[in-house]
Amino acid sequence: MEGLRLDIVTPDKVVLNAEVDYVGACGVDGQFGLLPQHAPLLSALKVGDLYYRQGNETHWVFIAGGFAQISDNKVTILAESAELASDIDVERAQEAKARAEKRLAEPQSDTDLARAELALQRAVSRIRVASR
Ligand code: ATP
Repeated sequence: MEGLRLDIVTPDKVVLNAEVDYVGACGVDGQFGLLPQHAPLLSALKVGDLYYRQGNETHWVFIAGGFAQISDNKVTILAESAELASDIDVERAQEAKARAEKRLAEPQSDTDLARAELALQRAVSRIRVASR
């Protein structure tokens, strides 16, 4: 059976071009999976992890929100930022997590809580993806 072409791009770089069998992603309305012959779809993505299967192997990618589109067996992910699990700097993510947790625990008058919450979600998700 024909597979899927998966392209993950950010404003800075092409993160992945690969032939895959399945893609799982975190849409704003919930998780969804894409197999070959899927109907055309456009979905906004949450901060979270995306995975794809190639045969028996599963690979994980961090996605910091964006959009997923599928048509003609081609999946395009336009992400605000994205990293393959192997490219994640875990120490950096742990530092970002600690900064965000401190901002949320001890908010100042100028603290943007929503921004800190999103930074925390990115950091936690990066740490999770890197440990897969
Ligand atoms: P930080 O506070 O550490 O910058 P952030 O969540 O604010 O984290 P982003 O704005 O999502 O960072 O990303 C900025 C750039 O840095 C992107 O190119 C992203 O891929 C990269 N990046 C951020 N954190 C990491 C990490 N832990 N490992 C690898 N690349 C990272």
